[in-house]
Parts: sequence; structure tokens; C-alpha cells
Amino acid sequence: MKLDWSARGRARIYAITVLGTVTCIGFSFAFDSYSLAGGTWQWGSAPLNNLIIPLLLAPPLFYFLLSKMRQLSIAHHELMTIASTDSLTSLLNRRAFTEMVEGYLKLVDEAVAPKHGALLVIDVDHFKAVNDRFGHDMGDEALKLVANTISATVRGTDLVGRFGGEEFCVFIPGQPADRIPVIAERIRSAVNNAAFIAGGQSHPLSVSVGGVIFDNRAPFSELYRGADEELYNAKRNGRNRVELCTYDRGAEMQQTLH
Ligand code: GH3
Ligand code: MG
Ligand code: MG
Repeated sequence: MKLDWSARGRARIYAITVLGTVTCIGFSFAFDSYSLAGGTWQWGSAPLNNLIIPLLLAPPLFYFLLSKMRQLSIAHHELMTIASTDSLTSLLNRRAFTEMVEGYLKLVDEAVAPKHGALLVIDVDHFKAVNDRFGHDMGDEALKLVANTISATVRGTDLVGRFGGEEFCVFIPGQPADRIPVIAERIRSAVNNAAFIAGGQSHPLSVSVGGVIFDNRAPFSELYRGADEELYNAKRNGRNRVELCTYDRGAEMQQTLH
């Protein structure tokens, strides 16, 4: 059995209670045995009290305080999860996604993380028609299907977020430029092949994907702007397609690929 030593686990409560109690006993003996006036050590008159009193008081006190701290830590963790998660799809919400990508890009700035990767912006095509035809609840189901399909298609280390409405973002850190078109295309085709069942029938969904590939330091706002422009191109060029560009610092984004 693996012990959970985190602030949310119980192992820490027991260990600190034992350590704290032993420390209290030690202090008790030291305090009772040391003569401040003479600077000498000598057993006090009732040495057993130095053992019994801390043993009676310290464990319940430590246990109570540490249990309360654990409860606070669990509540904090739950709140953080709620605050960073999109309630419909369970993906990262816009704020959490942006913060996590910015955190990664800061590591790139400090030369701690690989400096290449990509940001994709993915928008469901003609989604209003899905809502109009099958109702808002089925529209929600379609969004969940798209979210699950995107998540299942990328690596565990990639970040997937819902940016709002029927728009999703994928951040792919550390992948070389030539892999990105393959990954973006895989996402597009996976959504296109996912079975969205409504009214007893399967209806194809599709997404347009715009992306920017970077191999150098880049601010998130510029990456997002570039990817969003490519998404616009994908929509304009017929939807259900991928458009990518490379990020070129100080210059306009360069159009590349398909
Ligand atoms: P395009 O291919 O140009 O993207 O067309 P579209 O119909 O997908 O885009 P448009 O922006 O016209 O419509 C988006 C629709 O998405 C409208 C809105 O009601 C719907 N929508 C946004 N958020 C949600 C949601 O959480 N649930 C559901 N069911 N629908 C949503
Ligand atoms: Mg759309
Ligand atoms: Mg949209």
C-alpha cells in the first residue's frame, strides 16, 4: 500500500503527531532537568510527569490541528479544481488553460523547457445548426463528444481547454514542427469520424483547426492571435480542414502547410 504523504493524505497526520509528541516529551525533560541558575543538568523531582503529561496532551492536540489542516487542504484542492475546470466538458477552462500555457512559455523563456511546440484553436463547424436541429441538450452532448475525442487523440502531456462556446484549444509542447500537421489532422479526422448519435441516427460532426507552430520564445497572446487567424482561414476555405502557420518573432506570421 502506497502512503499518501501529501497535505491531503492521512500519513502526514500520524507521522507529525508522533514526531510532535516525542519532541514535546524531549522538551519537557529538558525544561525540567536544566537549572537556569546553575547552568547544570539534573533529573527533576517527578520525571515520570515529563512523560505522562505530554503523552496525554500532545497527541490529541496535534491530531486535531493536523486533521483540520488536512480538511482545509482538501477543500482548497476541490475549489482549485472547480475554478480551473469547464463544468460541461471537464476540460481546462479558458483562464486555467491560458495560465498553464503562459507558465510553460515562461519556462521556455528561462531555457528550462523545449522551445518548440504549437497552439491549435479548434472550432466546431456549423454548430448552431446542431442546436437548432436537435436542441440545446443534444448540442451539449455533441460538445462533450468533441471534447472527449480531442482529449483521447492527443498525448497526456498536451493541454486541452474549452475556450468558450464551441471553441477548443490544444497546446502541444515539445513536438517538432513536422509532427504538428499530423497531430492537427488526426484531431480533425477523429472528430469527423466520431459517432454523434441524435434521434437514433449518427450525424457527422466536423471541426476547423487553426494553428501556429513556434520554435522560439513567444507570448501566448500572439500565438493565440496567429492560431485564430488560421482558424478564420480554415473556415473561409471550406471548414473541416486544418490551416497552420509558423510563428516568426518580430515579423508577420508566415503562411505554411495546408
Ligand atoms: P461556424 O462553422 O462558422 O463556426 O458556425 P457555427 O454555427 O458553429 O458558429 P456560430 O458562432 O454561429 O454558432 C455557435 C453556436 O454555439 C451558437 C451557440 O448557441 C452555440 N453554443 C455556444 N455554447 C454552447 C453550449 O455550451 N452548449 C450548446 N448546446 N450550444 C452552445
Ligand atoms: Mg463554430
Ligand atoms: Mg465559434
